[in-house]
Amino acid sequence: MSSAYDVVVIGGGNAAFCAALAARESGVSVLVLECAPIDERGGNSRFTAGAMRVAYNGVDDLARLMPDLTNEDKANTDFSAYPIEQFYDDLCRVTQYRTDPHLAETLVGRSFETMLWMRGKGIRFAPIYGRQAFKVDGRFKFWGGLTVEAWGGGPGLIDALYNSAQRDGIEVWYESRAIKLIHDDDGVHGVVVRKNGRTVNVAARSVVIASGGFEANAEWRTRYLGPGWDLAKVRGTRFNTGDGIRMALEIGAMPYGNWSGCHAVGWDRNAPEFGDLSVGDGFQKHSYPFGIIVNGRGRRFVDEGADFRNYTYAKYGRAVLEQPGQFAWQIFDRKVAHLLRDEYRIKRVSKVSAATLEELAGKLEDVDASGFLEEVRAYNAAVRTEVPFNPNVKDGRSTHGLAINKSNWANTIDTPPFEGYAITCGITFTFGGLHIDSNGAVINTDGAPIRGLYAAGELVGGLFYFNYPGGTGLMSGSVFGRMAGSAAGRAVRS
Ligand SMILES: Cc1cc2nc3c(=O)[nH]c(=O)nc-3n(C[C@H](O)[C@H](O)[C@H](O)COP(=O)(O)OP(=O)(O)OC[C@H]3O[C@@H](n4cnc5c(N)ncnc54)[C@H](O)[C@@H]3O)c2cc1C
Repeated sequence: MSSAYDVVVIGGGNAAFCAALAARESGVSVLVLECAPIDERGGNSRFTAGAMRVAYNGVDDLARLMPDLTNEDKANTDFSAYPIEQFYDDLCRVTQYRTDPHLAETLVGRSFETMLWMRGKGIRFAPIYGRQAFKVDGRFKFWGGLTVEAWGGGPGLIDALYNSAQRDGIEVWYESRAIKLIHDDDGVHGVVVRKNGRTVNVAARSVVIASGGFEANAEWRTRYLGPGWDLAKVRGTRFNTGDGIRMALEIGAMPYGNWSGCHAVGWDRNAPEFGDLSVGDGFQKHSYPFGIIVNGRGRRFVDEGADFRNYTYAKYGRAVLEQPGQFAWQIFDRKVAHLLRDEYRIKRVSKVSAATLEELAGKLEDVDASGFLEEVRAYNAAVRTEVPFNPNVKDGRSTHGLAINKSNWANTIDTPPFEGYAITCGITFTFGGLHIDSNGAVINTDGAPIRGLYAAGELVGGLFYFNYPGGTGLMSGSVFGRMAGSAAGRAVRS
């Protein structure tokens, strides 16, 4: 069997559909290959809250992205600004200045125009009031550089992208796994696909790979991230097994970026091995800056208040994986219970409550109770209670004199009821991947672009090292997806 299209896009998530929509603007025929069945379509993008990190200069810019913003929203909210320079600085800082400056500049510099372009394709956006702004003195204030989310979260984003593709006449094949690139000395000419158990050759003038990282492949995780990573739970899709990266490497693509690094978070200890679309991102537990995290010995092991959650959560999953038994407990008391995100109130949550700390210690499964009580006593005594608590800013309310101090939002844990939430490590996506040029073309090991081959999304290496600023994954897929798709479409026309 064989078919032919001008552009074939491998993957069914945000990056793939931004590429497909952009390629179609050149008037070429476009096929999207999604290896998942229709009811699991959309990759990790569908599991997200749809939060997107975008550079903007103030509320007028936001109103262009979100014309639904009301005068009341504008009056009651400090949206502030998130200028290009700050986005760039944040990306450089959290990646320890390893991020590829060209990729970083492209991502940041094109973030706003790309979201406007998406808006033109029918994707709607809204402010992230629920998760990124607390109300203090009657006014919301956004913090952490993250202000905008896709309407309806990840599922809303994916539906809107698929609808837009359908309107534009883009074809989608489900249960169609790309297994190999058709390639010769002149470049890439198509894809070999397993479709409903049959092998199909699909000829194409350009191919865009947007099939995610290798986070759902336990063997590759162990091989590249290191021992123990086979034990991490996968937060999202079970389909991102590194196929796109493998196919490209097989024809001489350059491996690039932080191959031993990944995005991983605190995730319910009893969550299933892969993501569950009915729960989405609800197994994450992201309110730890307002409490403490202890391991099986009852000891703290990270500075829970080192920075806004958006700048620490993606690296703390690794810290949990490194603890004995690969688990930890997050502890809160009544004073901060109202600040806990909605994910702490889902049905499938591993939670215990108690009226005293001693009772709580007895309920924390697999934790040394006396070690825990000793740790809380030392922590409580170290809190600088004279500094006012403010969740909207880095308030400097820290501990002093501990082996691991907490830098902000330190509150004593002394007011019942007390709550404990059991977490393990949930991997989101891997950082290592392929090297692309300024057109989104995949670069080979000699440093030259491979003719006819483009890449976007999670499998682009070189952007993230060690850590990640929240909301950048979708933005990266959008910016580089659009770029790769446009170049792929233009190449067919030239
Ligand atoms: C629970 C969770 C919450 C998140 N929250 C956010 C957030 O709020 N904001 C944010 O910016 N990022 C978030 N992320 C990260 C974000 O999901 C990713 O960075 C982004 O969606 C990646 O987009 P992508 O298109 O590259 O990959 P994906 O959306 O994962 O798409 C990859 C696609 O490729 C398909 N595929 C794989 N192999 C093949 C093959 N061989 N042939 C054909 N198809 C194939 C898959 O089925 C899938 O459709 C979150 C991730 C998770 C898991």
